[in-house]
Amino acid sequence: MTTPDVTGRGLGLMNIPGAEEVMPPAATASPAQPTPSPPVATPAASALPQLKTPGFSPEAARQDFPILHRTVNGHPLIWLDNGATTQKPRQVIEALGAYYSAANSNIHRGAHTMAREATEMYEAGRAAVAEFLGAGSPDDIVFVRGTTEAINLVAQSWGRANLGPGDDILVPVLEHHSDIVPWQLIAKETRARVVPIPLTADGAIDQDAYADLLSYRTRLVAISHASNVLGTVPPVKEMTALAHRYDAKVLVDGAQAVAHFPVDVQDLDADFYAFSGHKLFAPTGIGALYAKPEILQAMNPWQGGGNMIDSVGFTETTFAPVPHRLEAGTGHISGVVGLLAALNWFTSFDRDAVAAYETALMTYAQQALATVPGMDVIGSAPDRIAVLTFTLAGHDPATIADWLDRDGIAVRAGHHCAQPALAHYGLESAARASLALYNTSEEVDQLVASLRRLQETDQETN
Ligand code: PLP
Repeated sequence: MTTPDVTGRGLGLMNIPGAEEVMPPAATASPAQPTPSPPVATPAASALPQLKTPGFSPEAARQDFPILHRTVNGHPLIWLDNGATTQKPRQVIEALGAYYSAANSNIHRGAHTMAREATEMYEAGRAAVAEFLGAGSPDDIVFVRGTTEAINLVAQSWGRANLGPGDDILVPVLEHHSDIVPWQLIAKETRARVVPIPLTADGAIDQDAYADLLSYRTRLVAISHASNVLGTVPPVKEMTALAHRYDAKVLVDGAQAVAHFPVDVQDLDADFYAFSGHKLFAPTGIGALYAKPEILQAMNPWQGGGNMIDSVGFTETTFAPVPHRLEAGTGHISGVVGLLAALNWFTSFDRDAVAAYETALMTYAQQALATVPGMDVIGSAPDRIAVLTFTLAGHDPATIADWLDRDGIAVRAGHHCAQPALAHYGLESAARASLALYNTSEEVDQLVASLRRLQETDQETN
């Protein structure tokens, strides 16, 4: 095959003639040289366990991220906003450059070499997503802009055809707004009901209440595989099995899960599974929806246009088979190229070792944050990803984020698009540090030191 390899599998611009002149080498991609940060006193650091996980080193992962070598406000960047979006390894950045330097074309339509090559890359991306999710076939994967679009697609296509007056859609209080609002919109049109599943005090889904709410009126259960605000990882497989006893379908929002632990949609027996590439080291604007083949095949188009038809006439228009029927218009081709490179990069690690490292890092962070006066971390469900949402006595979340930003530490403050989950704790807003595989215990130490300084400064001025 002569197709330029832009997969990121050990391949960058150098494999494309002339492309080396287009992009700077990775080593010079850092926008600013790090300046030494003042030494910080690490509270109780000596009392904390050293983080060593066999089979994975965050330092090795970090080397692939040019952005992690820049400074912000005179300090080395500490990126703890991975729940919002992850940074991109140079393999992804280079794959995008290589694609636009030597391989850009629309797909499917053209009969020329470039169109054929672009089509091959696009479909290679689909196959890689299928493998990553444990789907049975690439045909079970629909490309979308991200998790939000995937859920809206299911609501508008499957929901419109399958929901009716008196039907229930069960949605945990934990969910991101993207897994609440699309159901509210379609429920209003179809006169179905969106029924919240309550949380327990620790931020887990109340399984007794869930069992009680399920009935033969339940058509769909929509659950996150990991919460973006509390980190909770619900027992999705068990919840799915229970829903299936009532013939209800289950949609799993994997936006926060896929970058943290291995996923197997067939093992989960999920009917739908959605994720966003940008939370998985890939570019923004690309994501995927998995659906069981028998469900997908019965789904009507939700948008019309090119690429999704077999033939168009003013008396009759016929549609392409799935997944193309659900992908109207020109897709985000370079996004798929970037996603493919991200998957190749990410799956080169031992995924179980990555998950073990992140769990150890979260435990470390929890213990370290507990040493900050006035700290309250919300959510303590037993199974969690490394998301730490907190309040700090005497400071509103926006002030905390602003203070940390001055030290080069990026955290998010606000409602995290999960207002019902925060309301469960009587909050409208909180600060959130969300960790990824490239974060280190030293970065956690810097976070804790900065927060302690905020509290000390506050005491001195009072
Ligand atoms: N679901 C969850 C759990 C999320 O955390 C997010 C984004 O933060 C979304 C859905 C929406 O993702 P996107 O904005 O990429 O569509």
